Amino acid sequence: MTLSVDGFDKEKENHTPSNAEENHFDVAIIGSGPAGYTASIYTSRAKLKTLVISGSLPGGQLMTTTEVENYPGFPNGINGPDLMIYMQQQSERFGTTMLIDEVTSVDFGSKPFKIFTGSSTYTSDSVLISTGATPRKLGIKSEQEFSGKGLSYCATCDGPFFKNQDIVVVGGGDTALEEATFLTKFGKTVKLIHRRDNLRASKILQERAFENPKIEFIWNSSIVDVKGDKKVTSVVVRNMNTAEEKNLEAGGVFVAIGHEPNTAILKGQVDLDERGYVIVQNGTRTNIDGVFAAGDVHDFRYRQAITAAGFGCMAALDIEKWLVETKGK
Ligand code: NAP
Repeated sequence: MTLSVDGFDKEKENHTPSNAEENHFDVAIIGSGPAGYTASIYTSRAKLKTLVISGSLPGGQLMTTTEVENYPGFPNGINGPDLMIYMQQQSERFGTTMLIDEVTSVDFGSKPFKIFTGSSTYTSDSVLISTGATPRKLGIKSEQEFSGKGLSYCATCDGPFFKNQDIVVVGGGDTALEEATFLTKFGKTVKLIHRRDNLRASKILQERAFENPKIEFIWNSSIVDVKGDKKVTSVVVRNMNTAEEKNLEAGGVFVAIGHEPNTAILKGQVDLDERGYVIVQNGTRTNIDGVFAAGDVHDFRYRQAITAAGFGCMAALDIEKWLVETKGK
C-alpha cells in the first residue's frame, strides 16, 4: 500500500476542542517526527489521553526525504512520507488526538502545563518536547531546487545512492569529516569544501580524513551555486580569498554545516545548552518535573529516524512511570 502526504487527515487541522476538560490531556506531545509519533503510540496504547501537536508539516524531516533504506522492517526501503503516515495512523488507532498547528508558546511555570497555539490553549499533566532540529542551510538560491535531487543533509541516509559518483561535502566540523570519510565507501571521489583553512573537527577525525587518500580538501572556499538538470551535475566553488570561481563536477552534494534545534518556543521554560539543545538527564527528563524531551531536539549526535523513535519510546515509558508516581494514572 502506498500513501501520499494527503493521507494526513485534513479535518484534524481544524480540531479545536471547545471546553477546558476536552482541552486537558495526560500527555501533550509537541512535534510529530519519529520521536513524537512513537511516544504517542506507547502512551495512547497505555490508555493515557494523548495529544500530538504536529507543527505545520506533520511528520518532520522525513517528509522531505525520498527513500529510507535503513529503517528496520522494510526490506525494500520505504518513502519517508509513507513511513511517517504509517506512524501517524498507528498512533491514531490507539486514540491519539492529532492537531496540525504550530505551538506559539508554552508555560511550564505552573501545573497543569499550558501550551498555546495561535487559536487555542491546551493543558496537560505531562509534556514531551519532540520538536526536532533543522539542518543549517547554505543559503544559496539553487539549494532548495536540488534538495533531494542530489543535495542532501544526511550522508548516513543518502550516501548509498551515490555509488561511483563525484561527491562534495561542505563543512569543517565533526559531522562533515565523519560524513566525508563515510562517503568514501561509495563515491568515486570525495571533496571536502571548507570556508576556512582550519578544521573545527576533533583531532582524531581530522587525522582519519587526512590519511584517507580518497578525500581531497578544498580550503577557504564555499559553494555559490549548484547546477544540474533534474539532478545535481556540478557545483560552483568560490575561493574566499581570491574570489576566483570554478566549476566542479559532482553527482552529490552533502551539506554538513550543523543543525539548529527547534527550541525557540522553549527559551526560559526548560534548560537548554549553549547551542540551544534541550538538556536531558536520567533518560528523557528535562529540568522541569513532568516535562520530557526526545529525538533530535536533544540528540545532536545520532540524529537518525530509528534513534529518534527509540528516544520516543523511552520518553513514553518515563512519562507513564512519572504519571503513575505523581498522579496515580
Ligand atoms: P559544527 O561543529 O557546528 O560545525 C559546523 C561546520 O560547518 C563548521 O566547520 C563551520 O565552519 C561550518 N559552517 C557553518 N555555517 C556555514 C556556512 N553557512 N557555510 C559554510 N560552512 C559553514 O556542527 P557539526 O559538525 O554538525 O557538529 C555538531 C556537534 O555534534 C558538535 O558538538 C560535534 O562535536 C558533535 N558531533 C560529534 C561527532 C563525534 O564525536 N563522532 C560526530 C558528529 C557531530 P567554521 O568552522 O568556520 O565555523
